[in-house]
Amino acid sequence: MSSIFTKIINGEIPCYKVAETDDFLAFLDINPNAKGHTLCIPKKEVDKIFDLDEETYNALMQFSRKVAIAIEKVIPCKRVGMSVIGLEVPHVHVHLIPLNSMEDARFLNKESLTKEEFEVTAKAISNAL
Ligand code: 5GP
Repeated sequence: MSSIFTKIINGEIPCYKVAETDDFLAFLDINPNAKGHTLCIPKKEVDKIFDLDEETYNALMQFSRKVAIAIEKVIPCKRVGMSVIGLEVPHVHVHLIPLNSMEDARFLNKESLTKEEFEVTAKAISNAL
């Protein structure tokens, strides 16, 4: 069965898209730690990040770096943190999280955003790429 993220890639489930290439997709996390929390994924469905072939792993890091730099341009924060967990969705994803305090990195406090806030945020990051 396809992962929920493959369904997003295929357009079967909507997302707030930030960036897309032939091989990667970036979109806002639906339950963000902070405004601008973005997920970067390979279109190739692989569960664990260190099982990716080296070329895809390196290209995912390059893609994530570009998106992180764009996030930092438009979302007020001290820095953009990166984390990889994957205990919920078995499809490689890099979390890019605008950080103002350690709390933002802990996946405990969540920020609720309106549809419009998600749309405006995704567009702002996308425009800053
Ligand atoms: P992890 O697998 O790294 O523990 O967490 C998965 C992340 O994916 C969570 O932060 C969760 O909010 C996010 N997520 C789960 N399902 C969806 C979805 O359908 N759409 C989006 N945009 N994010 C999702």
